[in-house]
Amino acid sequence: MPAPSLAEQDIRCSFCSKPKTDVAKMIAGAGVHICNECVGLCAEILAAQTVETPEISYTESMTVEQILEFLPRIAEVSAQVEDNLRVWVQRARDRGATWARIGAALGMTRQSAWERFSGEE
Ligand SMILES: [Zn+2]
Repeated sequence: MPAPSLAEQDIRCSFCSKPKTDVAKMIAGAGVHICNECVGLCAEILAAQTVETPEISYTESMTVEQILEFLPRIAEVSAQVEDNLRVWVQRARDRGATWARIGAALGMTRQSAWERFSGEE
């Protein structure tokens, strides 16, 4: 059985939401990803203080519409992180980790880990 993983098209940049299939490179972190385009933008921002920072952080001047527009992007990243967590939990299970050890690693009980990740009811 192949190791559990996310499908290529399901891997999205956690910053711009582009799928892996639409960018040249995707770098993986702990449950998140960043594409080469976002890394490039970050490098520009770091190199030159004059480059405008994209408006993604919360400010008092944001309208309700702007906040509501941002919510699905956050939810999408959250879903991707959850998918990645499930893949990594399955990898641990495949290598013999007990639900008790997985629960301990995540700061939850064995029962909570099983309920959240086993897919059984
Ligand atoms: Zn990106």
